[in-house]
Amino acid sequence: MKADGDTYYNNGARKNVKNRGYFKKVMQGQKIMSQPLESKVDGRTKVILAVPIYRNGKVTGALGASYNVGALNQMLFNDIYDGIGFSMIIDTSGKIISCDSGLSYRKIGINDNVYDFYTKSGEVAEETMKSAKANIKKQKSGILVLKEKNAMSYLAYEPLHINNWMLCYMVPQSKAQEEFQFIGNKEVILFAVIGVGVITFFILIFQRTSMKQKKMREIASRDGLTQLYNKAGTEQRIKEWLHSDRSKAGAVLMMMDIDYFKQINDTYGHAVGDRVLYKVGHLLKSSFRENDIVGRIGGDEFLIFMEGITSEEFAVRRMENLQQYLRELPIEELEEHTLTCSMGAAFMPKDGTTFEELYKQADEALYTTKRNGRDGFRIYHEVEEKEV
Ligand code: GH3
Ligand code: MG
Repeated sequence: MKADGDTYYNNGARKNVKNRGYFKKVMQGQKIMSQPLESKVDGRTKVILAVPIYRNGKVTGALGASYNVGALNQMLFNDIYDGIGFSMIIDTSGKIISCDSGLSYRKIGINDNVYDFYTKSGEVAEETMKSAKANIKKQKSGILVLKEKNAMSYLAYEPLHINNWMLCYMVPQSKAQEEFQFIGNKEVILFAVIGVGVITFFILIFQRTSMKQKKMREIASRDGLTQLYNKAGTEQRIKEWLHSDRSKAGAVLMMMDIDYFKQINDTYGHAVGDRVLYKVGHLLKSSFRENDIVGRIGGDEFLIFMEGITSEEFAVRRMENLQQYLRELPIEELEEHTLTCSMGAAFMPKDGTTFEELYKQADEALYTTKRNGRDGFRIYHEVEEKEV
């Protein structure tokens, strides 16, 4: 476009546009995009884009182009909802600037006014359209529900931020919902998967918690120094056994207390005393079977519960052996000191059937051993104990 309005087109045409609004603006130095113009030649809606050309700081002409807005619309939105929906660009007065190629679905035409068309057809109530109009005027987006006899559609509008135009796209409700239909179809599977997930999650948590609890119970039932059962642990294991079917086999409860242990502490120190206890614990662990319950129930006091033993002879042999092992237990720090212990034993069911009874009888027998000079053992005999 020359300064006098003479304009040269790339198809060879020549025209003077000096009276056109867009020409006047571009010559004032503005970059412009014109209002849509309907072409007299092909009836298409076009916009003119133009930028000024400067020479020595003065506008000497302009470079312009015309663009078919409908083509833009088509390029962007032709396949919206598989071509079932359609899109339009409208201005604030409801005039259609452009809409995509004529599909049978689309009843509205390029020459219709959107506001008038949908209110006249009865698809949108006047009041509703009024508020949509107000929205569009304020360049706010929204959705109109178009109600036909047997069907419903959604008409959404969004500001384009060009010339106050709005981009509208319309889609039938059935199609819009189809997109989400799969949720309904897969609902059962979805819930099953979530359900199984949640259940698995809780099972895992439960397992981990019970494993932790088991571990904590195990730690709580052990003696830190010897790793034998502690008093509570020993008592619990023995009681469990007494309440089980295996108790029919009978058992012997042996109690053992190291002689003059205080002297060891006093002579060699508490640390050596600890070491002696640790060694004795180790000796007991290795001297008895896996099924026997061995525990440290006090400072230098130990319990051994042997299941299936009812023969006094056998118990006597085990106690003699244990005392011999103890005497031979190599503990460097003790130098010449020989470790001895006193023991007492009671039989189940002969001397008692509960933990408390057996404990009491074995303790009495041990006490008698101590009183009789230590370094020995004794099996509980009701009459004799009473006599003592
Ligand atoms: P008795 O021959 O009558 O058994 O006398 P004893 O010296 O062995 O004394 P008693 O069995 O009555 O007491 C045990 C002592 O063991 C009391 C305490 O000083 C000591 N003791 C208790 N627990 C520990 C411990 O964990 N480590 C050490 N080193 N000594 C302990
Ligand atoms: Mg002692």
